Amino acid sequence: MSDLMNSESSVEADALQKLNDLKAGKITIGDIMGPLYVNTVEMNPVINIPPGQKSQPFVAANVDYGPAECEYNISAEAYVGPKDRQNPVPKERYDLVVIGAGVAGLLSVICAKALGKKAALIERHYMGGDCLNVGCFPSKAIIRCARAVHEVRTAAEFGVIIPEGEVKVDFPAIMRRMRMLRASIAPHDGVERYGRDFCEDVFQGNARFIGPDSVAVDGMDAPIFFDYAMVATGASAAVPPIPGLRSVPHLTNNDFFNLEELPPRMCLIGAGPIGIELAQTMARFGSQVTIFEICPQLLPREDPDAAALLKEELESEMDIQYSVKINNIEYVGGDPTAGAPTKAPWGCYKVFVTLADGTDKVYECEAILNATGRVPNVCGVGLDTVGVEFDNRCGVHVDDHFQTCVPNIYSCGDCASPFKFTHAADWQARTAIRNMFLGLKEKQQNILTPWCTYTEPEIAHVGLYEKEMDDRGIAYVTYKRDLKDVDRCKCEGVKAGFVKISAAEGTDVILGATIVGPSAGDMISEITICMQNGIGLSKLAGTIHPYPTSAEAIRQCAAQFWQRGGMATPVNKRVTEMLLEERAAAGPGSN
Ligand SMILES: Cc1cc2nc3c(=O)[nH]c(=O)nc-3n(C[C@H](O)[C@H](O)[C@H](O)COP(=O)(O)OP(=O)(O)OC[C@H]3O[C@@H](n4cnc5c(N)ncnc54)[C@H](O)[C@@H]3O)c2cc1C
Repeated sequence: MSDLMNSESSVEADALQKLNDLKAGKITIGDIMGPLYVNTVEMNPVINIPPGQKSQPFVAANVDYGPAECEYNISAEAYVGPKDRQNPVPKERYDLVVIGAGVAGLLSVICAKALGKKAALIERHYMGGDCLNVGCFPSKAIIRCARAVHEVRTAAEFGVIIPEGEVKVDFPAIMRRMRMLRASIAPHDGVERYGRDFCEDVFQGNARFIGPDSVAVDGMDAPIFFDYAMVATGASAAVPPIPGLRSVPHLTNNDFFNLEELPPRMCLIGAGPIGIELAQTMARFGSQVTIFEICPQLLPREDPDAAALLKEELESEMDIQYSVKINNIEYVGGDPTAGAPTKAPWGCYKVFVTLADGTDKVYECEAILNATGRVPNVCGVGLDTVGVEFDNRCGVHVDDHFQTCVPNIYSCGDCASPFKFTHAADWQARTAIRNMFLGLKEKQQNILTPWCTYTEPEIAHVGLYEKEMDDRGIAYVTYKRDLKDVDRCKCEGVKAGFVKISAAEGTDVILGATIVGPSAGDMISEITICMQNGIGLSKLAGTIHPYPTSAEAIRQCAAQFWQRGGMATPVNKRVTEMLLEERAAAGPGSN
């Protein structure tokens, strides 16, 4: 008994010591709860979004899974958006109310639960948000199939001969596979699991603030009261004022994954990451794809060498029109009052454009995918009722710690951040909940956020771009390794791609990196770990990598720091000479 009491008091004393160390800044919360970031230097590129208005922008409406009779859709919907479920009666008060059950909302309640807090989660459509239902997951599932098609079509290089005309793509089977996989993970994000394991209650319906500590949900009489709230309402597909676009039924990511048959011709508006991933995929399935991009280049924010390389690849697979102006879109032969068709009989769209060289042209196609960007879901949430600042382009205004101007209301994810990625929403929610309940001031800008565009080749990036370093007046050296010179990449038939790492001039401190090539998104994590943990090029170059792997390109790139960078100084060279001279003087075999 006394042993137990001794050990309890020693835990108490040690905990008090750690608490004091934490408050004195000697340790961080990462030393107590696990680090979300270590490096406190701000290394993310700045994404400037001009402020918008408070009015509701034109966005695509949510669309249910289609086809409705698909067994996988029925099963997935039963988990993430059951239609016949009654909402529970709200408890008297919750520690936390979360609006939106995308990644940001789900992680918020998981982290709150880990701190012993009682949360309510409210979702108006499907739990899992964009990522599970109409974003990352389904897109990557069909991108995998497109890669398979491409590999088969280009198999002759590897000595596999497929008689001409025999490669057939079963598009309905591809979409069924995607729906099957989506349904297989839907239970993880489901209403039942979250209601049981992570929250006090899950409510289905549109939520809005009605008072400083209360939220109303459509269809429910009783308000839901909270101590703290997290706004995690995500973003929607923008529908810009392109003449004709708003009056013709067209696809966005909300209904693209409901396609049942391959449209013979498809026009995409917007050459951002979402647009080009899906454009390449559809082109590989056999659709004749045209992209209309208003800017003179694709991925304007990306590393220019990376964007140029991808441009070359994509232009070999489809028609991309840059600096194009869409003058009008007409829809003939289809029902303009119905949703965009997902199978034959297709209507015919006519897209009237002025090309970069000034010529007018009309494109015809059976499907249009609008991928012109995403706007935060901030209107109609009652933010103005409670005095939370927001606008319809930047989203909810939060400080560096995810706190709004109303101290008990926080926000994170796509509705509040320019970094619109699933992993960013995840990390932001974890950080925000720690700040909310532990009184911490962990910073959004310190969350080093890598990203990847999942085209072939993939483009992955972390840290600062060269242009940004130029603009900020940061002196740096860039090291580059072409994948075509890396043994494993040669075997794999990789024709182009690179690893590019920039380090602060005169040091081996990594400031940014871009990788273009197969699995670039996986490879970038190695550099992210280095940056986050202060591991420089020298240590990276001195770390053994298995031969032959593509990741050797990273080590070889870093090793350039030894050969032509900071290690190859006159002093270091002279030290080596001195050692050789000493050894020579001592004679062979001496110790
Ligand atoms: C086609 C596509 C592909 C993508 N691919 C990738 C990828 O490969 N990798 C990556 O990292 N990111 C990708 N993204 C981005 C990623 O999906 C988002 O960054 C991520 O889903 C953001 O999560 P979130 O929780 O902030 O928002 P969301 O996922 O949008 O969730 C917000 C939720 O809030 C709900 N909601 C909104 N308002 C209310 C209200 N008033 N009441 C109740 N509920 C409400 C919505 O219905 C929604 O479910 C992709 C996006 C798209 C569209």
